[in-house]
Amino acid sequence: MKYCTNLLFVLFLLPVFVFGQGKKAAKGGDKIDKLKAEAVAAVEANAVQAQQINDMLFSFAELGFQEEESFKYLTTLLEKEGFTVKKGISGIPTAWIATWGSGKPLIAVGSDIDCIPKASQKPGVAYKDPIVEGAPGHGEGHNSGQALNIVAVLAVKKLMEREKIPGTLMLWPGVAEELVGTKAFYVRDGYFKDVDACIFTHVGNNLGVSWGDNGNNGLVSVRFNFEGQAAHAAGAPWRGRSALDAVELMNIGWNFRREHLELTQRSHYVISDGGDQPNVVPSKAAVWYYFRERTYPKIKKLFETGVKIAEGAALMTDTKFTYEILGSAWPVHTNRVIAAAAYDNIKKVGLPTWSDEDQLLARASQIELQAPKTEGLATKLDSMGMPTSSAPVVMMGGQAMTPMGGGSDDIADISWSLPTIVLRYPSNIPGLPGHHWANAISMATPIAHKGIVYGAKAEAMTLLDLLLKPEVLKEAWAYYKDEQTKDIKYEPLISPKEQPAIYLNKKIMTEFKPKLEPFYYDPAKYKTYLEQLGIKYPTVRDDQREAVKKAVEKEKSSAAKAGSSRSE
Ligand SMILES: [Zn+2]
Repeated sequence: MKYCTNLLFVLFLLPVFVFGQGKKAAKGGDKIDKLKAEAVAAVEANAVQAQQINDMLFSFAELGFQEEESFKYLTTLLEKEGFTVKKGISGIPTAWIATWGSGKPLIAVGSDIDCIPKASQKPGVAYKDPIVEGAPGHGEGHNSGQALNIVAVLAVKKLMEREKIPGTLMLWPGVAEELVGTKAFYVRDGYFKDVDACIFTHVGNNLGVSWGDNGNNGLVSVRFNFEGQAAHAAGAPWRGRSALDAVELMNIGWNFRREHLELTQRSHYVISDGGDQPNVVPSKAAVWYYFRERTYPKIKKLFETGVKIAEGAALMTDTKFTYEILGSAWPVHTNRVIAAAAYDNIKKVGLPTWSDEDQLLARASQIELQAPKTEGLATKLDSMGMPTSSAPVVMMGGQAMTPMGGGSDDIADISWSLPTIVLRYPSNIPGLPGHHWANAISMATPIAHKGIVYGAKAEAMTLLDLLLKPEVLKEAWAYYKDEQTKDIKYEPLISPKEQPAIYLNKKIMTEFKPKLEPFYYDPAKYKTYLEQLGIKYPTVRDDQREAVKKAVEKEKSSAAKAGSSRSE
């Protein structure tokens, strides 16, 4: 409610503000608009570079903390473009910060770079067809954000040089986002302490932005390591104490407890070590949990419940346990003022024009994956996302329900440290499962390429707002201080002693990297990665083509019916 009142207040004041500024402001505005148009043209002219960066990262397909090729490629590129690159930040070999320019404001632009286990998929193919069976792949689309950021920043940098605009641009990667493994460390280690604003980009299926609490969960990622006694599993089992028993009992305990947890919690686990072979009582075993909740105190409480259950399991099995925090994220809260500025630009940019081939690939994939809707790619801009606290409340059995939570992103730890927004861009197909091979289908095709270019235009325009309109930054900080952090203060879920879990995924990448290497993209030889792989765009089966045709006809006839009933 508070947000609504403030919004009305701002809308009411808007005409006064605009007229009160007089001619000078209008002139300044004209100049900024001109620069924005130039930035948009520069992004458009750089579309090939965006496509190449996108396709290159797609072909590397590197899991969190093991983004070695992506690291080499991106840092080399940025150094060539005149950036100063600090490598290995927070003790993470694949993390870096690239800066260019001087003085204030310091604007950070970031995006994730890691991929998903077992999500290898040929782009442009509307059914499961891995590049390398069992290998990681970009089933979340994290190959696209750096491409967007780099072309947007290069367009703005050119204008800053020519117009002598003061300020510093900082590019950085979300390493191991799928493990929520790094951003809280960047914050803890002070890499964002002088940053004035941050634009983060994440792949989506529309060009959009939201502000406030996004209704999702934060989390803590914890591995419980149990230790017992080995013994001959048949010869002397009474001498053994099974660490695996402890893991199983912990999971059983947790699954019983689940019934008595708040409805907003989401928790899941994998047994990351279940012993070596059946004839040896496992002396070591480990289970890895994500504990997700809506607020910091609730995340802490959920985690404490997990520790208690681990204690119970250890008692029952006469084993010992330790735990390690492998990652963490606060629930995301983004900045209203910067989101409003970005949304103004988004409206000017609009959505890409999709070709028949793009729509065929999208619809065929949606039908293949049984998506809730099979209407293809977005053709209408989303409205600006509003905080969940001012969203309509769902009534259930007469009781008001709070947002039900969902995924997490450690960009939250940055968004709680300084004014931050997340810009989403339309490079993916709506309605796919997420963290899945199918989410890689569009990610090195014209769908992704166009989505990135449109996102980059909106980002470049918003960067110019942040560099040239001091009032935007001032109001953004006022929102951050007076509203966002008025009652809630950021406390990290990691302590000063935790270190990034940089060993994670090492084994998997050691196995798959040699198998993926022959498929790395070579832009010197091939215009696109699709061309290199010899994929006809789009590749759909005959039955998929037929199903799409039927779905389109059905939509047309129901649209016609709706039209005729309206006219009656
Ligand atoms: Zn992501």
